[in-house]
Amino acid sequence: MKGPTVRFLGGVREIGGNKILIKDGPDRILFDFGPSFSPRVEEFYVEYLQPRSTSRAKDLLEFDLIPRISGLYAKETLGDGDLPYVAPEVHGIFVSHAHADHAGYLELVDPSIPVHVGEGTRTLLSAIETSTRMKYGDHPWEVFADRKPIRVGGIEVVPFPVDHSIPFAYGFIVRTSEGTIAYTGDFRHHGPRAADTHAFFDAVAAEKVDALLIEGTRAGPDPRRNLSEAGVRSGVDRVLTERPELALACTYPRDIDRLRTLYAAAVAADRELVVSVRTAHLLSQVAPRFPPGEVPVPGRSPGLQVYARKKRVSYLWERPFLGDALPSEEVRRRGRKYLLALDFAHFPELIDLRPPKGSPFIHSMSEPFSEDDVDDRVMHNWLDHFGLQFHQMHASGHASGTELLDIVRAAGARTVYPIHTEHPEAFEKAGPSVRLPELGVAYPLTR
Ligand SMILES: [Zn+2]
Repeated sequence: MKGPTVRFLGGVREIGGNKILIKDGPDRILFDFGPSFSPRVEEFYVEYLQPRSTSRAKDLLEFDLIPRISGLYAKETLGDGDLPYVAPEVHGIFVSHAHADHAGYLELVDPSIPVHVGEGTRTLLSAIETSTRMKYGDHPWEVFADRKPIRVGGIEVVPFPVDHSIPFAYGFIVRTSEGTIAYTGDFRHHGPRAADTHAFFDAVAAEKVDALLIEGTRAGPDPRRNLSEAGVRSGVDRVLTERPELALACTYPRDIDRLRTLYAAAVAADRELVVSVRTAHLLSQVAPRFPPGEVPVPGRSPGLQVYARKKRVSYLWERPFLGDALPSEEVRRRGRKYLLALDFAHFPELIDLRPPKGSPFIHSMSEPFSEDDVDDRVMHNWLDHFGLQFHQMHASGHASGTELLDIVRAAGARTVYPIHTEHPEAFEKAGPSVRLPELGVAYPLTR
């Protein structure tokens, strides 16, 4: 094929796992590189059974769980597998945002390939690396600025900020030698940065792109309730004023917007928000990337506390927060003063906290998709055991099915490829420009 092409090496009929390869003459760039949330990987690797850290790519390639492309993977991770190491043939990777399904395989990438990220994403990735077992590898990190074009060979990439459930998320306009592409990353319209999403799609429409690569997490049947971020706030306000006991909440660990919402609601209800040490580390790292005062910081913002989980050892990064951290006894004794944001993995703390029966538990995450979701069953077993009152309050990180169709119609792209969705056919209602992509096929940009 002579002209520029786009290939989908992941994110096809699945949520997450986007891996988009754009080829233009000698230039090749990749957008996003993370594992999918599809059950495919779990056919071979579950919980305790994981690829070896010494040869992760080799172990994933064995079952075709990552794409078999040359000139992308690091020599060490390929080991003596059947995909031989060759020097880099991919000239840059752009990461739309710091969620695992977009960035989680960066560790496998040849350490000489530049990785382009927003400045805030770089901060988030290093905060995650410090405070979890996640590793992204060593790379020449290239930090881009909002709407400022970057050149990789003959290809020009313009990053546009969009609103998503993690801050510093981007969509891109990509200009090749013949034709242009818009790639949305993950986005929504109902969060605090909705104006950014609108500005991106205005730019996409003005560009008259040849191909629109759009995420469709919520396309097709989706019975789950969804609030706006403001809707979550008023729901939490109601619970906090109505209930006199300790209030508990559970959020996604990197959802800074939700943490801000919980903090504001706690302060308004004359309570204090109590977060984990990991959340405390994250907040203190990302706060400088926001306007002053926008993100609460432990030790500086009144009404924000850190919870002291009982642990045998503490890491260096945890230590700044441990001195003033609240032990379970204090949270138990003056429960009505607190809103405690607990991770699912920290549920055993409930055994020490013993919240009074009827204490509210705010589940501020997606409802499970399937009825036999194991984690959901286990969570409800715990809540039932302690007699906690369950409240579902969440604003999704993604646009709704009808919003997606409106965007596609307004964008006027020549061809639309729905990705990051289990229901790409739901986009066909938007008109004949929709083409359901197949995994690994190279689609020419211009015909
Ligand atoms: Zn995603």
